Amino acid sequence: MAKFICDTCGREVQVIDGIVSWTREGNTLKNFKLTHKGDQCQPANNRYRELYTITLASGFMEFVQYLLERWEDGLELGDPQTLRKVTRQLNLHMHEKLLMLVEE
Ligand SMILES: [Zn+2]
Repeated sequence: MAKFICDTCGREVQVIDGIVSWTREGNTLKNFKLTHKGDQCQPANNRYRELYTITLASGFMEFVQYLLERWEDGLELGDPQTLRKVTRQLNLHMHEKLLMLVEE
């Protein structure tokens, strides 16, 4: 299974210890980070989801829906590459999880 890597310290993050956070500032969503929970690694963002909730298919879709609804509200991504980096890790995890289900 692909490991989650903390965007701050570069070490492995266990699903239960991880958090995905970002900042909503005015009409902009920015600074998406997948990190360890807590002051050491978690940036001073004002929005977050526990990593374990996003690694469930339902939570993943809920996160996508959240982003689509913000888009509908007219919000913009401040730095799309940070969201891309987070979703790349999430996608790999979801992909491997689905493969395991198919093989069982
Ligand atoms: Zn960390």
